[in-house]
Amino acid sequence: MAVHIEQPLLVATSNPHKLEEIRAVLGPLGIETIGLDEAGVDVPEPVEDGATFEANAQLKAAYYARAARRACLADDSGLEVDALGGAPGVYSARYAGEGDTRAQRDAANNARLLAELKNVPLEQRTARFVCAMCLADEHGRVLAETRGEFAGVIIDEPRGSNGFGYDPLLWLADVGQTSAELPPAEKNARSHRGAASRAMAAWLCG
Ligand code: IMP
Repeated sequence: MAVHIEQPLLVATSNPHKLEEIRAVLGPLGIETIGLDEAGVDVPEPVEDGATFEANAQLKAAYYARAARRACLADDSGLEVDALGGAPGVYSARYAGEGDTRAQRDAANNARLLAELKNVPLEQRTARFVCAMCLADEHGRVLAETRGEFAGVIIDEPRGSNGFGYDPLLWLADVGQTSAELPPAEKNARSHRGAASRAMAAWLCG
């Protein structure tokens, strides 16, 4: 790395899917990563009350960097649906309220999204995943910020079992598959998180 950051780099997530996707980009470039659980960072989650993905990514990176006293990379992401005025946006993770497990929350969120779009024709169901990443130093100061987007159309029933969240509903017309039907490496090659991770790696590696 051109910039001196303690390795493994702390990633502010307990979501194994996010960690795996970020790791798949940074690992081969020699940047080792560790999630909150593995690093034993056991503090209450911060309230993610930012109005934008960028604000929430900053908030998480700074909060966990200060808590762990080491540099920290945060990802804040979500789905913007044009016909819903950009919703669920920053509320993507809790669109249908809180559920017991991640899988239950994902299923409830997908069901709510389909209900909201019930009368909207396919050609008006354009949407995109957005990922904002922020790297903060051990004092919580922002070092770098990156962003990625992943566009598609919301179909009317879930397809595929890879990935997480709204992946089974984002249809990619060029390959005739949903994001959840893409093999992980292909999702990363075109996804919002893959793009934001590659831009962050470029910053880290100078
Ligand atoms: P966060 O953990 O607060 O950033 O919330 C992210 C939420 O956005 C997740 O719970 C998913 O619902 C959604 N999301 C973000 N990235 C993806 C993705 O790559 N695939 C599917 N859903 C995603």
